[in-house]
Amino acid sequence: MSELDLPVVDFAPDRWGNPEHAITLPESLQATLDALGIHPLAAPVAPEDVALGASAVPAATRTALVEALGAPYVSDEAVDRLRHTRGWSTPDILKMRAGDASDAPDLVLRPGGHDEVVEVLRICSDAAVAVVPYSGGTSVVGGLTPGHEGFHGVVALDLGRLEGLTSLDAVSRTATLRAGTRGPRAEELLQADGFTLGHFPQSYEGASIGGYAAARSAGQSSAGYGRFDDMVVGLVLATPRGTLELGTAPKSAAGPDLRQLVLGSEGTLGVITSVTVRVRPVPTVRVFEGWRFASFEAGAEAVRRLAQDGPLPTVLRLSDEVETALNLADPASAGSGSSGCLAITGYEGAPDEVAARRAAATSVLLELGGELLGEEAGEKWRTGRFHGPYLRDPLLDAGALVETLETVTFWSNVPRLKQAVTEAVQGALLVYELPSLVMCHLSHVYETGASLYFTVACPQSEDALAQWGSAKAAANAAIRGVGAAITHHHGVGRDHRDTYAEEIGPLGVDVLRAVKATLDPAGILNPGVLVSR
Ligand SMILES: Cc1cc2nc3c(=O)[nH]c(=O)nc-3n(C[C@H](O)[C@H](O)[C@H](O)COP(=O)(O)OP(=O)(O)OC[C@H]3O[C@@H](n4cnc5c(N)ncnc54)[C@H](O)[C@@H]3O)c2cc1C
Repeated sequence: MSELDLPVVDFAPDRWGNPEHAITLPESLQATLDALGIHPLAAPVAPEDVALGASAVPAATRTALVEALGAPYVSDEAVDRLRHTRGWSTPDILKMRAGDASDAPDLVLRPGGHDEVVEVLRICSDAAVAVVPYSGGTSVVGGLTPGHEGFHGVVALDLGRLEGLTSLDAVSRTATLRAGTRGPRAEELLQADGFTLGHFPQSYEGASIGGYAAARSAGQSSAGYGRFDDMVVGLVLATPRGTLELGTAPKSAAGPDLRQLVLGSEGTLGVITSVTVRVRPVPTVRVFEGWRFASFEAGAEAVRRLAQDGPLPTVLRLSDEVETALNLADPASAGSGSSGCLAITGYEGAPDEVAARRAAATSVLLELGGELLGEEAGEKWRTGRFHGPYLRDPLLDAGALVETLETVTFWSNVPRLKQAVTEAVQGALLVYELPSLVMCHLSHVYETGASLYFTVACPQSEDALAQWGSAKAAANAAIRGVGAAITHHHGVGRDHRDTYAEEIGPLGVDVLRAVKATLDPAGILNPGVLVSR
């Protein structure tokens, strides 16, 4: 079984991922925590002890929803409501650990098809009930936490029953997948026919096709396969006004591309019920290698050269000195990394093509000062690439605060951005008089620029939510201050909404509000996400 053949499992409300893959902290990391004086604080509230308010949806609306979907698919059970409360950012987890379920939906709805989604939207629109489209539930930007004010309750619209591959055009290399199909299931279905999507975000075990499209996801193989929005050729959107079906051809000169309006709309304009994507043949060869560069600057120069002049590996990433030393991708050896900066190159495809691309990229990397560490280091990253998120829960248990953030800018601005975010976060955390580590990697590259992904770790203060809030606010201001974008792939949600509004300006916000008013006149879809009301 490859590391991509992960079973589709339901997550617990309070722990990331497949419970069978849960890990304990490696000794090396525990020793680092001890040395830093990090100790567990209050024990988390168990999910069964979290108090939930009564469901606020009016009885008549509930009856209409039961008539539309069938009683088994309208749930107000506590376990369902808890599992659909917020997403998986560290603040989301901290709130759940504190027993705060104030953002829980009143009902969880599980429609079985597109027409049922349209009907739910009609009912909720008439009854002024807010709707949260929910695919995998892995949002880390508050995308699943709409405003309640002014509505007669909130329902989570779980798209898990809209699952599967509905068509495959092997000649055009396109496939239509239903929105609730989780990452591993999509690969299983496509690979049975010899194709792959090639989309492997770190949230692969939990995230789904609809969420990838709605939040413009980018996978770890984006250098070779592109971002998810590059793969989409068609979409079906259910809205309170009816259905929007988009994508009659791969490219068109007919007006603005409305597909681009739906991509990244984060559940505010409608519910994506199916997505047609470009697929590629399953690669016959996969080679992953590790490289060491003396510094992040030297490594970034080499990565930029490949991104601009080619050839591009399928996976291309570079960790800075701090991340390299901690080696977070591989919990088994976390804390035991080495000096310099680790880069990973991965090549997937047909044997001759991979050999040629690898040889050409290797000579560029050697010329620019790279030291080839070999396939063992690459394989270590490849097989451990979905393990990182499993570290967060035991780290929180141990009293550490860990969170990530990401951004993107043009190449000429990358050093300034890295420095500005690092200093801003460290400065904000200094107030707590606690040590902090700010790590960075570069993992999505373009001819003109790259995304920077930061991981922050420090001891939890008495109020870890406020502590992270101040670090995040400082990071947002720094990103904005150097003219970078507030997100490359996590999306806007509620957490980035105000900075995004500054990025696109008042006219940009008005355009989004006008489109929303057309498709969702009652404003029930994810109110307060993406743009303020
Ligand atoms: C540990 C971890 C690692 C992550 N790694 C990555 C990564 O490598 N790359 C990356 O891009 N992201 C990553 N993310 C963020 C997240 O996984 C992505 O944003 C992903 O695309 C969300 O997909 P989902 O199916 O879970 O969507 P959800 O969380 O269910 O929804 C995301 C947003 O889209 C809306 N939405 C969901 N489904 C639909 C639909 N069918 N129609 C309309 N709106 C909808 C929701 O209302 C919400 O606003 C990570 C998250 C975690 C927790």
